[in-house]
Amino acid sequence: MIPKLLPDNTFAADASMRALLDAWLRPATFAWAEADLSEMGRAAANELQAWGDACEGQPAALTQFDGWGQRIDEVVYPQAWRELAAVAARTGLVALPYEAATLARVGGEARIVQAALCYLFAPSTATYLCPVAMTDGAARVLTDAGSERQRRDVVARLVSRDPTRAWTSGQWMTERQGGSDVGRNAVVARRDGDHWRLDGQKFFCSNIGCEVALALARPQGASSGTRGLALFLVPKAAPPDGGRNRYRIDRLKDKLGTRAMATGEVTLDGAYAELVGDGERGFAQMTAMLNITRLHNAVTAAATMRRACMLAAAYAREREAFGRTLDQQPLHQEVLREMTAQADGGLYLTMRMAQLLGRIETGEAGAGEAALFRLGIALAKLYTAKQAVAVVSEAIECFGGQGYMEDTGLPRLLRDAQVLPIWEGTTSVLSLDALRVLRRSESMDAVGAELDRLEAPDRDCALDLAHKAATDEPDAAERAARRVAYALAEAWIGGLLRQAGVEVRPPGIALRLR
Ligand SMILES: Cc1cc2nc3c(=O)[nH]c(=O)nc-3n(C[C@H](O)[C@H](O)[C@H](O)COP(=O)(O)OP(=O)(O)OC[C@H]3O[C@@H](n4cnc5c(N)ncnc54)[C@H](O)[C@@H]3O)c2cc1C
Repeated sequence: MIPKLLPDNTFAADASMRALLDAWLRPATFAWAEADLSEMGRAAANELQAWGDACEGQPAALTQFDGWGQRIDEVVYPQAWRELAAVAARTGLVALPYEAATLARVGGEARIVQAALCYLFAPSTATYLCPVAMTDGAARVLTDAGSERQRRDVVARLVSRDPTRAWTSGQWMTERQGGSDVGRNAVVARRDGDHWRLDGQKFFCSNIGCEVALALARPQGASSGTRGLALFLVPKAAPPDGGRNRYRIDRLKDKLGTRAMATGEVTLDGAYAELVGDGERGFAQMTAMLNITRLHNAVTAAATMRRACMLAAAYAREREAFGRTLDQQPLHQEVLREMTAQADGGLYLTMRMAQLLGRIETGEAGAGEAALFRLGIALAKLYTAKQAVAVVSEAIECFGGQGYMEDTGLPRLLRDAQVLPIWEGTTSVLSLDALRVLRRSESMDAVGAELDRLEAPDRDCALDLAHKAATDEPDAAERAARRVAYALAEAWIGGLLRQAGVEVRPPGIALRLR
């Protein structure tokens, strides 16, 4: 896609990311990670982009039957998709925060390095970060709650750097009657000796070619709502003989974007499944996966904004109108500056979440950091996703009519960005989640302390709004939930940017999609 508009190395060209890593990582960690970051930045502008484009041109296809009419339900991916998978595995996009040697060397900063690598990888690679995100989430859940066998046989594959051994995971929650309202899940689980059998339908299963999936299902006789849901590991190849597990891929979805990444509708028909962890804490355990997929969503949103800014700025240097190049036009400069401010804000808020997650996972976190992350991950996901759509839309407009032309590759940026506010929790659903969290005093205290620490310019106003909503009557509080979430996210970003010495510009002329 428009190779001449991309810099030779997207890491070298990303002054904001470099400054953040320089300030936030210990020098030894930055020195250790720099070669990989630089190599990812080079690849992103070269072969990753070419493979991403190839995947988009030849999306995965579903083969439901073999020549003898036997059901096989194989998803056939182009070679370019396998190349992307190999780079992701070799670079440790999933592995980094699970490797003993990495953790011994850099501790919780592994999550910052991982997020930076994913940020460089994401915008060139046709949504391959979606499988990375779910695989990371599954590795976390199985590491924390899985059996010894699941850790030995499954986690080892999910975090493998060897592309010939590496597996990816899916995340099967959504059913036809409800995605946000997971408590309506109807897939039934019944005991069968030492394992379980699942029956029912899952309506959105991304990365459907995965070797394993984590699925929510309701054991027979369990209570209604999310409380009655248990978490199961569903392998593609079922014991004892490794034959195809008993689920059918009814079809691949015909999507607005993310076309290279196959999303299937699945019917489970007595599918073999293993219980993960505590059968009565299924949804709580799934939350650990969601926190990680939401972080990757924010990483993708921040990266998408940066890519949009890079392309628009490069075009502005070349395109002439009214006697001078666009980058000389004062109003266009203002538009580009505002887009860049949004990209910077998204980057800082996202990387703060990566930092917190790393500290929590390695036991480095102090009091209040877990509560801060619990609130912050909802805010970061909802805010960056929405701003990514706004920034990409503005970037498309920066190209005038050419931005609307399919063969420039630009419309794909907008199509792919549009999923970011929908999956992993919509803007409203996450705003309500943030509101629930804010009703706990430890969350309110934690975000207050964070905004004070950062001397966030708009902290008083945002915290007043949050206090009022947290204590208001339920309907009024719900109506205010998005305003509260946005105010907190913008105050937090303002504080992080102020601390970093970066210009703070709340969305102004064009970038307000709420
Ligand atoms: C491309 C793609 C891939 C996906 N992949 C997966 C996957 O791999 N695994 C998986 O489990 N799911 C997946 N999903 C599903 C996705 O997570 C859900 O679509 C999403 O969570 C929303 O759920 P829903 O579609 O049921 O919408 P609904 O819950 O019906 O929401 C519809 C609208 O109502 C709003 N709404 C809902 N409740 C409230 C409320 N209480 N107050 C105010 N507004 C409300 C929502 O914000 C939204 O605007 C995927 C979706 C897409 C588009």
